[in-house]
Amino acid sequence: MSSILIVEDERSIRELIRMTMEQAGHSCVTAQDGRQAADLIEQRDFDLALLDIMLPFIDGYELLEYLKSLHIPVIFLTARGELADRVRGLRMGADDYLVKPFEPEELAARVYSVLRRAGKAAENLTVGDVTLDVENRRCIKSGKTVSLTPRETDLLILLMQNAGKTLYREYLYETIWGQMWDEADNRALDTHIQRLRRKLGWEKQIRTLYKVGYRLEK
Ligand code: CA
Repeated sequence: MSSILIVEDERSIRELIRMTMEQAGHSCVTAQDGRQAADLIEQRDFDLALLDIMLPFIDGYELLEYLKSLHIPVIFLTARGELADRVRGLRMGADDYLVKPFEPEELAARVYSVLRRAGKAAENLTVGDVTLDVENRRCIKSGKTVSLTPRETDLLILLMQNAGKTLYREYLYETIWGQMWDEADNRALDTHIQRLRRKLGWEKQIRTLYKVGYRLEK
């Protein structure tokens, strides 16, 4: 499941996109103008953004620059005939574009392919000599299977999906254990990290940021 930001000021199109994305198994957040979108981008992390170009307050090009600086892939939604917009969007680094009106199936397929290219689709995650087959939850290091517990696997997926980023201890714990972080009982996370390090030979790759969290180096 990927988290997708949908920015479109036309309500009917916005809802159609949201339905299509949810049916494809993604979680969605929508914004109806550029300002709202910028606030959301600031607050949360997205795997991909679907951007209309003409938007109130802040247009799609400006949002594109912002998203690119955060390495979030972008698919532009352009109106028919706006060739110049498409060219400009792609030049500026959009990953793909779709001409409105589009078929839901086409949208889903484009999103899938951009996510895959960006390494964000639920397939194989690779960092260094470790590959994780997400669907089958199988971890392979240098050609050999590494046996991991379900929690270790969840933790590794989260770290690999966010390689290069620092993940807060609270976030890791609450996402994987599904419980509120409790300062007094924080050993479970540390213990799992230790085991992952040992099993993968990743003593240095998984960095501890004292009192903050962990980061998997790319
Ligand atoms: Ca528009």
